[in-house]
Amino acid sequence: MLTDSFGRVATDLRVSLTDRCSLRCSYCMPADGLDWLPGPALLTDGEVTRLISVAVRRLGITEVRFTGGEPLLRRGLPGLVAATAALDPRPEISLTTNGIGLARLAGPLQAAGLDRLNVSLDTLSRETFVTLARRDRLPDVLAGLAAAAAAGLTPVKVNAVLLRGINDHEAPALLRFCLDRGYQLRFIEQMPLDAQHGWRRADMVTADEILASLSAEFTLTADDPGLRGSAPAERFLVAGGPAHVGVIGSVTRPFCGSCDRVRLTADGQIRNCLFATAETDLRTPLRAGASDDDLAALWRRAVAVKLPGHGINDPGFLQPARPMSAIGG
Ligand code: SAM
Ligand code: SF4
Repeated sequence: MLTDSFGRVATDLRVSLTDRCSLRCSYCMPADGLDWLPGPALLTDGEVTRLISVAVRRLGITEVRFTGGEPLLRRGLPGLVAATAALDPRPEISLTTNGIGLARLAGPLQAAGLDRLNVSLDTLSRETFVTLARRDRLPDVLAGLAAAAAAGLTPVKVNAVLLRGINDHEAPALLRFCLDRGYQLRFIEQMPLDAQHGWRRADMVTADEILASLSAEFTLTADDPGLRGSAPAERFLVAGGPAHVGVIGSVTRPFCGSCDRVRLTADGQIRNCLFATAETDLRTPLRAGASDDDLAALWRRAVAVKLPGHGINDPGFLQPARPMSAIGG
């Protein structure tokens, strides 16, 4: 088991497959000028599979989520999903993607063993999409969403980040869009993880604001908090149900006390928190011939020292050096 000193157990592994991306969302990446990880630093498909296997067979990981950067850019993704699905015990396998390329890949990924996915969609306006993601790709994202549903990767989940003055008026429209198609929508508060360190608390659209905006058009009823478990989203029944909407108040309503996550970066570093300032290198020992036992021991130690919280609201908070795209969201 991956247990920390506060008794939390990590069972959910986020695997970043690349720091590259087909978009340049302003809350994540700069318009240009971000160095990529050099090729030799990246774990190969075989190395990724070996580490996932150690996590699942020896460390109690029951859920593996592929992310990035944009994981659909990784050519070996269907093979990585298939190798993960072949593990015993078989973990739940999910994906977080911007949806570009999903129209082609949803079927092969489902066939390889993918169970679920989250597609990021912040706006329904093509113009706003270009402002926010700096690429004219909204039609590709919408096609990807439809393909995921058609391939049976249901329920399709949608992640949305609202930015003040850009798309913060779109919460009700995004919810209506998702309700009409049977997608499950979750809003995520913007976190200080952008490469350019431009996050400002005053600019962040808070969970309270998101709920107020939704409540102007929908009747929301909060789920029993006892049902939440380690899920980061607070869930609300929409208009009496059965549909829900989620709000992830990472900054104003932190859920660190029930966090069950651990991250593996594309260059083989373990991060025990999105906001960790230290990492544990597994790539070097892996390439030097470490045994599964050695790797599991290093991994356990990395999680054991996890801090109680992300500290964003502390005066001494320091944003991690790596941006979200290189950590794995
Ligand atoms: N490229 C994929 C995507 O966009 O879904 C996967 C990686 S992305 C880093 C994962 C999630 O993190 C996305 O839903 C994205 O909106 C979210 N994200 C990125 N930067 C963020 C930030 N600064 N605050 C909150 N969420 C952020
Ligand atoms: Fe790319 Fe995802 Fe970051 Fe947007 S949020 S730039 S899609 S990694």
